[in-house]
Amino acid sequence: MKKGCPYGTHRVISPKGVLPQPADVIDNTMEIYDNEVLIDVKTLNIDSASFTEIEKRAGGDVEEIKKIMLGIVEKAGKHKNPWTGSGGMLIGTVKEVGENYKGDLKPGDEIATLVSLSLTPLVIEEILDVRPDIDQVDIKGQAILFQSGIYAKLPKDMPAGLALSALDVAGAPAQTAKLVKPGDRVLVIGGGGKSGLLCLYEAKKRAGVTGQVICAAGSQKSEDRAKSLDLADEYFHIDATDAVAMYNKIVELTDGELCDVVINCVNIENTEMASILCCKDDGIVYFFSMATSFTKAALGAEGVGKDVNMVVGNGYTKGHAEITLQCLREHEGLKKLFQEMYA
Ligand code: NAP
Repeated sequence: MKKGCPYGTHRVISPKGVLPQPADVIDNTMEIYDNEVLIDVKTLNIDSASFTEIEKRAGGDVEEIKKIMLGIVEKAGKHKNPWTGSGGMLIGTVKEVGENYKGDLKPGDEIATLVSLSLTPLVIEEILDVRPDIDQVDIKGQAILFQSGIYAKLPKDMPAGLALSALDVAGAPAQTAKLVKPGDRVLVIGGGGKSGLLCLYEAKKRAGVTGQVICAAGSQKSEDRAKSLDLADEYFHIDATDAVAMYNKIVELTDGELCDVVINCVNIENTEMASILCCKDDGIVYFFSMATSFTKAALGAEGVGKDVNMVVGNGYTKGHAEITLQCLREHEGLKKLFQEMYA
């Protein structure tokens, strides 16, 4: 077997010298190097910002969505949406493990990869089913996990689709667990969506009875969804691109104090300023949304004289898979909702 780099740089075709994620094209030959794992893929969970964009581009037509997805992989050797730059993750069964791979995987293990599809060598032989309402796509195909690639073995106490949908956004509740302190005021923008609901649950748990957790949903429907699970102290819905309206609402709900932590979980552009304006000076804005623009956030905060700490939504933080699956185990209603909506 050929020797591979732990980060997968041996698969980069262009441009030369970059890592697989920023690369435009990677080698998706399904013959493994000595430190790689070959996976028979069952389902792709396309990142929400990416799927929303593809769906829009396809005019909602499923056959067109398939064509766009196949085109992306054919061109890049991976499913990195060229318009959003984002990926998603997958579940599948380990088929082969390289002779020098250091890890506890063996053929037959059912896993979810926790590294982005935007860097994962992938071959799609056939798209079997597209489920636009949950951004999941069943395929016949294979993928490669690099030595450095993180994964979770699928838990035995919940269906694979349920675990996949939650693990897709595992960074968000886990970062929330780390950022929110007892007594904090926390705003979750997009609080009625998948990552938003998990963040609300985790924020409430960490902020405790002396804290205040506020759910800003995108519509009445997702507001009601969060409310039905009793995940926050305050709920409302608003267009998060309207920064001033959001600010006024948060001033009202916090008696002008604003929030210690603002978590952005939306899947659309231009919500940076709503997040920044609602945060106290020295507070934290956590941008989990992949539609966030660094330029808009940095220049926007400067433009309104806000000294806030802005955290880029790293999809990984230690223990993220365990923290996320634990949210579902602890909250029966959340688990049931995830099962009904996303699994
Ligand atoms: P989701 O379930 O689709 O939730 C997105 C939420 O945004 C929805 O609840 C939606 O509300 C809300 N929203 C949309 N437009 C809005 C607006 N104008 N004003 C206020 N709210 C609005 O998505 P998700 O799976 O939780 O993912 C959320 C984001 O995280 C996406 O951008 C995704 O790409 C990103 N992500 C990041 C990582 C990472 O590693 N950082 C990993 C995975 C995903 P309604 O339902 O009411 O319309």
